Amino acid sequence: MRAPTRPDPLEYLAAELESLASQGLRRPLRVLGDEQRARATFDHRAVVNLSSNNYLGLTTHPRLRERAIEAVRELGVGSGSVRTIAGTMAIHLELERRLASFKKTEAVVVFQSGFAANAGTVSAVLTRDDVIVSDELNHASIIDGARLSRAAIKVFPHRDVDAARRILRELPATQRRLLITDGVFSMDGDLGPLPALCDLAEEFGCIMMVDDAHASGVFGSNGRGTIDHFGVHGRVDIQVGTLSKAVGVLGGYVAGTRPLIEFLHHRARPFLFSTSHPPAVAAACIAAIDLLESEPALIERLWENTRFFKGGLRTLGFDTGTSESPITPVIVGEGGLAMRLSDELFRAGVFAQGIAYPTVARDKARVRTIVTATHTPQDLQFALDVFGRVGRDLGII
Ligand code: PMP
Repeated sequence: MRAPTRPDPLEYLAAELESLASQGLRRPLRVLGDEQRARATFDHRAVVNLSSNNYLGLTTHPRLRERAIEAVRELGVGSGSVRTIAGTMAIHLELERRLASFKKTEAVVVFQSGFAANAGTVSAVLTRDDVIVSDELNHASIIDGARLSRAAIKVFPHRDVDAARRILRELPATQRRLLITDGVFSMDGDLGPLPALCDLAEEFGCIMMVDDAHASGVFGSNGRGTIDHFGVHGRVDIQVGTLSKAVGVLGGYVAGTRPLIEFLHHRARPFLFSTSHPPAVAAACIAAIDLLESEPALIERLWENTRFFKGGLRTLGFDTGTSESPITPVIVGEGGLAMRLSDELFRAGVFAQGIAYPTVARDKARVRTIVTATHTPQDLQFALDVFGRVGRDLGII
């Protein structure tokens, strides 16, 4: 408890919250009462869950559970150290070997999260003398990594390859340059123009980096990502993936050449200064890779559901932007309206989170939907019926 005589130096934070509340943007955390599934209970209400990144339903898959439990029994619950001191276990290396062979690269290093992988890698690979050429909608972890690197940051309009070229033309060829894009953009569900950006990187001699967080387990053969989807193997120097979304567990990784990976062991700050995953995390991730390799039907089901639901939203007349992935935004414009839509959907049994500034542009607030392989046709039809009813009530369609 604070002493009653002392003024609260954090009072300005309460004022910020009030300001958010007055714009309808102060959001409670929805609380999941059971497991992360296609139908779940949030805030004590049973809903069709269109808000998780659990693309393949692996968060609750029996084989992942079993492997995690076995690892807890055999290896304990924690790794006890950062990787570079005493926290590298054989199972961490096994996961990295499996990921490297899955991604068809020489080597992989796993980080505690996708966020740590992006921020830790961009900030390690570049210095204040370098330049980062970055899509305006790249993920926050790329932006933070870029700031930490102290390199100059040049932002090009979303997916605008010509604009990226104009930026690169102005930069001296002697300067080290990183060209970076998301593989799948997390708020719009559209794809980075990888082949054209790889051409550009080759023409100008840049390092090419792709954050494939939302593509891992979703795009390409067996979910190998957008590099595989576009057939640009060997043309992307730094590939980032996450283990927290389709893989169903937690973590991020960088796939690339052996020197890149060994350099990151020595210079990526989350690897050096933050404790490694518990062995159960690595064990569950290995089980997930087994599944990706042996059960491509899971990914086919995800895409069937995606086509059905995206088509349904468009037929209802919603603005779903330019999505090409299981992420489908329902763009409504103003932040308060997006939150009202989300709240009304929730009351009617559909959980689709509202997203507003600063996560997306001020006039592009939306409700973001993500379907998974484990939604049934009945789940999705129910959700479409509710979207139609609530959208008409609010005058959105
Ligand atoms: N990149 C993108 C594009 C993402 O959407 C996210 C997750 N929000 C991340 C990276 C971070 O991944 P993680 O959740 O594993 O930290």
